[in-house]
Amino acid sequence: AKAKGRNRYEFFSAALSEQLQEVRTLSAQLHESLVNNEFELLYQPQFDLMTGTITACEALLRWHPAHGGENVSPAVFIPLAERTDLIVQIGRWVMQQACGQVKRWQKKGINLRVDINVSARELVEPDYFARLDACRLSHGLTPQDIGIELTENILIKADNDVLEALKQQRQKGVEISIDDFGVGYSSLSYLRQFPVSHLKIDRTFLKDAPSKAYDSALMEAIVNVGHKLDLLIVAEGVETEEQARYCKELKVEYAQGYLFAKPLTVDAFEALFAKTSRG
Ligand code: C2E
Ligand code: CA
Ligand code: CA
Ligand code: CA
Repeated sequence: AKAKGRNRYEFFSAALSEQLQEVRTLSAQLHESLVNNEFELLYQPQFDLMTGTITACEALLRWHPAHGGENVSPAVFIPLAERTDLIVQIGRWVMQQACGQVKRWQKKGINLRVDINVSARELVEPDYFARLDACRLSHGLTPQDIGIELTENILIKADNDVLEALKQQRQKGVEISIDDFGVGYSSLSYLRQFPVSHLKIDRTFLKDAPSKAYDSALMEAIVNVGHKLDLLIVAEGVETEEQARYCKELKVEYAQGYLFAKPLTVDAFEALFAKTSRG
């Protein structure tokens, strides 16, 4: 039994150190990539379900490692970057890039809000919101031009300083979305406490609704509570016509998902925008 236990230990420790090595390599690559400009922002449109027009978009990060083969999903590299200060540097790059893009689009007559994803570690930087203000200002943007997306788990852990800063941003007119709504903290009562404008319902809730009664009940409950609190609802991960119809029936305001468009390069986004705004 002893030998067996030891073997198992060795097995695990070998696997663990291999994993650690991988993480280290990836982190080092990430850092280098930031310096070498190997990141790109894609933009996924949000559609107004009533009018069918694009009202905003979400900036989604892509990493194209110059010397290292295949692309790594943000679902993999973001959590990695979040373990260190790297996420703060990446977030700064994203913020700059998004502000620049909004401005470039405005010059072309495309007036759209761009929402950026904010990690917990960025938010607790004492100067995060001062930098956001400065970034908007230096690009000649208004508070309405850049929205922020925060997960429930971030909000729950936010201290008073963060809460106050968020309230100030909201008062200025910054759109604040709760991302992945429904998968994190399970009580709805805390919603009153936070200065949010939008709920983005996680796509897992839509996946089997309306065919599955259980998912439909949850979906409808979330939409109802959101509307009672005067929040705008965004359905994430709308992939089928049936789901879009269902969201419309529930009076969900906005939808984002592969049915309408995947995250797009700037050129592809502009082409789609031209098509949808021509009517
Ligand atoms: P998220 O914020 O929940 O972003 C939505 C994810 O769902 C995106 O994955 C998007 O491509 C995907 N998606 C959109 N429509 C559909 C659909 O109809 N079906 C399905 N199956 N998926 C859909 P992506 O781009 O791989 O990003 C993954 C996550 O990485 C994001 O989840 C976000 O948490 C994080 N992330 C991405 N960019 C950034 C960033 O700039 N900063 C931070 N902090 N996190 C980011
Ligand atoms: Ca998001
Ligand atoms: Ca989401
Ligand atoms: Ca997510």
